[in-house]
Amino acid sequence: LSPVPSDIEISRAQSPKAVDVLAKEIGLLTDEIEIYGQTKAKVRLSLLERLKDQPDGKYVLVAGITPTPLGEGKSTVTVGLVQALTAHLNINSFACLRQPSQGPTFGVKGGAAGGGYAQVIPMEEFNLHLTGDIHAITAANNLLAAAIDARILHENTQSDKSLYNRLVPVVNGMRGFSAIQLARLRRLGINKTDPETLTEEEISKFVRLDIDPSTITWQRVVDTNDRFLRKVTVGQANTEKGFVRQAQFDIAVASEIMAILALTTSLQDMKERLGKMVVANDKKGEPVTAEDLGVTGALAVLMKDAIKPTLMQTLEGTPVFVHAGPFANIAHGNSSVLADKIALKLVGEKGFVVTEAGFGADIGMEKFFNIKCRASGLVPSVVVLVATVRALKMHGGGCWKLLPIVFALLLVADGCCNLQKQIQITQLFGVPVVVALNVFKTDSPAEVDLVCKMAKESGAFDAVPCNHWSAGGRGAVKLAQAVEKAANQKNSFKYLYSLELPIVEKIRIIAQKVYGAQDIELSPTAQSQVDRYTQQGFGNLPICMAKTHLSLSHQPERKGVPTGFILPISDVRASIGAGFIYPLVGTMSTMPGLPTRPCFYDIDLDPITEQVKGLF
Ligand code: ADP
Repeated sequence: LSPVPSDIEISRAQSPKAVDVLAKEIGLLTDEIEIYGQTKAKVRLSLLERLKDQPDGKYVLVAGITPTPLGEGKSTVTVGLVQALTAHLNINSFACLRQPSQGPTFGVKGGAAGGGYAQVIPMEEFNLHLTGDIHAITAANNLLAAAIDARILHENTQSDKSLYNRLVPVVNGMRGFSAIQLARLRRLGINKTDPETLTEEEISKFVRLDIDPSTITWQRVVDTNDRFLRKVTVGQANTEKGFVRQAQFDIAVASEIMAILALTTSLQDMKERLGKMVVANDKKGEPVTAEDLGVTGALAVLMKDAIKPTLMQTLEGTPVFVHAGPFANIAHGNSSVLADKIALKLVGEKGFVVTEAGFGADIGMEKFFNIKCRASGLVPSVVVLVATVRALKMHGGGCWKLLPIVFALLLVADGCCNLQKQIQITQLFGVPVVVALNVFKTDSPAEVDLVCKMAKESGAFDAVPCNHWSAGGRGAVKLAQAVEKAANQKNSFKYLYSLELPIVEKIRIIAQKVYGAQDIELSPTAQSQVDRYTQQGFGNLPICMAKTHLSLSHQPERKGVPTGFILPISDVRASIGAGFIYPLVGTMSTMPGLPTRPCFYDIDLDPITEQVKGLF
């Protein structure tokens, strides 16, 4: 329709097929799905075992140029591309998307189901509770938080004897020690491997964790933009006997458990990662883990359903997996490895799986390659780099708030430096890149031609205008054809750095080669954290940079391709269970706030029809 109706009107106008019908169409067996309502189903991991000999399809990553704060359409391109491949070119394909947090849905940015005629439906299901994975993460995260404070209280208010009496049955009940427990026993000078042979004194030593409260890094979470929880005081009731401390809440998707969900490859692997999460140091400076707190099994139980990807569909009835959505500010911002792996089997050798990396290619794509592909072992075939005329005008010196009324070709030409740089960044990884110019109705044909020409001159395998937002899959057929051709090109995929390099060297490589920085500068805090993690044996992990997505540099107002800057690293933290070190470039908020006029003003429910209004 023209003009294009609102996202929720489009979503509601299309009746989705029943999810069991969709599941059958894509080759799932009845006992491989768990149906939630009529339009969503969880898919069991047993599928991977059944299809283990089936060759994988082609793996496509959708990334973008440095965006305006509005987003340049990576989700819509992802959905438009699979609609074009499956519904118009008859090639099996799957989209794998992140589950959005409730924070932006009710806050500023809105949902993440795509938009226009390239959406996942029903979009209200997608954007709200879905199948409860974020709630499961919240429950698991907060159980661990509660365990930490309770343990400090009990260890400090009970005698050795009383602690021993309560915890010795736990140790005696163990069939063996885990690797984490054995490492701790060795640090305590106990060289035994059989729980039965520990003396009373050794058990007392083993059960006392001696957590230093000032080193606790594990925070409580809630999936709401609640700025008043950015700093809280816990333990103020008399029953907590003065164990008061300053703490904070993060948005639920910033929990390390979400990053683990996104990177895990099996239930066993998830359990091991949950156990490895470091939550604090003890008074001797040694790391204290979830496993030390005895909570690994309970966390795994809370997460046992969340590990299964959720099957949904696009507006044109093609399959989509929605799974995991790690907060891109401090984690890697990519959907799950498991969803990609299952989808790659389901589409078959000639099929395509299209997934998306949050933010610009300098952030989301770099993390996709260096963190997610390392965890999965998967090799991407093609990168689709999304650009818009409006963002290029901004990079050329225009103000993004006025962009629709600025029609200067010169601005676009100048702004193409950012597109060129992002193409070059993609080429560092040896994967062919196709530029998808997401066309807005305000774009002139001359602007569209210019961008496509400049993209090809900058080394893109191809560059095509896309009209999926206004025309659905039909509007992305040329993109789909270009992607199909690019997937048959020679692929010399490589990681950007070796894990064996020192932490600082890995950060420097990303800063210089990807962001174009002259050098990096670590604060004293950052340097001492690097020294601590290296000494604790965590130096060989990949790096997950926490940097603004609004510029290639650390300064959001510097557009185009900034040069000559020194990237300041203010702090360095670690998600040991997820498996990465994350340096902070400036301060990074882990709890967004609500603005004066949040999206929730527009959201409403019709009590008669039960229809949701106002989501986008
Ligand atoms: P990203 O994934 O890059 O953040 P989205 O795909 O979520 O971007 O798109 C951001 C917003 O812009 C969405 O509300 C979407 O409906 C809208 N949008 C995307 N492409 C177009 C287009 N070509 N014309 C108009 N609006 C668009």
